[in-house]
Amino acid sequence: MKQFQGDEEALGKGILYLVATPIGNLEDITLRALRILKEADIIAAEDTRQTLKLLNHFEIKKPLISYYEHNKIEKGNYLINLLLEGKNIALVSDAGTPGISDPGEDLVRLAVENNIPVTMTPGPVAAVMALVLSGLPSGRFAFEGFLPMNKRSRKERLLSLKKETRPMVFYEAPHKLKYTLKDLYDALGNRKIALARELTKKFEEITRCSLEEAVNKYADESPKGEFVLVVEGEDEEKLLIDKKRSWEATSLDEHLQSYVDQGLSRKEAMKRVAGDRGLSKRDIYNSLLPEESQ
Ligand code: SAM
Repeated sequence: MKQFQGDEEALGKGILYLVATPIGNLEDITLRALRILKEADIIAAEDTRQTLKLLNHFEIKKPLISYYEHNKIEKGNYLINLLLEGKNIALVSDAGTPGISDPGEDLVRLAVENNIPVTMTPGPVAAVMALVLSGLPSGRFAFEGFLPMNKRSRKERLLSLKKETRPMVFYEAPHKLKYTLKDLYDALGNRKIALARELTKKFEEITRCSLEEAVNKYADESPKGEFVLVVEGEDEEKLLIDKKRSWEATSLDEHLQSYVDQGLSRKEAMKRVAGDRGLSKRDIYNSLLPEESQ
């Protein structure tokens, strides 16, 4: 296999390949991914039985090592030692891109810490496909993966997303979908949502509707298959108006003083007040004129 050029310290070490695999349709594997899987010394897999199906389909025979959430510390160190001895390792998850809501992140960090070359055969990511098909703006987005299960952390996370203006992409298991839709609706209000179901599979379906409609649809319908949710970000104009409104109850003096108390110069504080209120610096200066000329 090709060694990385120009990195003396990495010489003699193996390469860690993150290999993206299909998220449903076996045709979505790249030629390079197949070559790397064939040429690697070892394949580390999230679920060896699942990966065996993929390998059998492409007639690839390789030693498999399991590497998943609950053995990642022990197996991570083991894999790093093999890489240090010069073995090339391909890491695959059950579906899609390792490291995206799947094991991979820790192994990459360990490899980087040990100056082991890391590369990837890129491929499917359910989040990206759902975002692009959602019809929502895709120039910027926030990938949120799975929301925390713990009630309090979940509430805090949702609260932190209230002012997010980029579309947000969530993963969810079908049996939790209806609760997550309700939580999103309660926290974010009635935004647009795209529900991307069974991507790349026979029953692929994109439902574009409002969060309220989605909550109602799944209130008494059991969802089937895998879902990605893409939720519209907060309207930037609305945020600006809300921000201006929140200052209306505060006098200019108090507003200015709040920045001066934070250690800002009077000039800098006036600039901030002007920005907060959507006014020009001159407007602020004129309104405070009697004080400013003292
Ligand atoms: N590593 C994967 C990736 O690159 O997209 C994600 C793995 S994560 C454990 C599994 C979640 O991804 C599912 O719960 C679902 O939200 C989403 N997902 C995976 N495959 C999907 C598909 N074919 N259609 C819709 N969502 C999918």
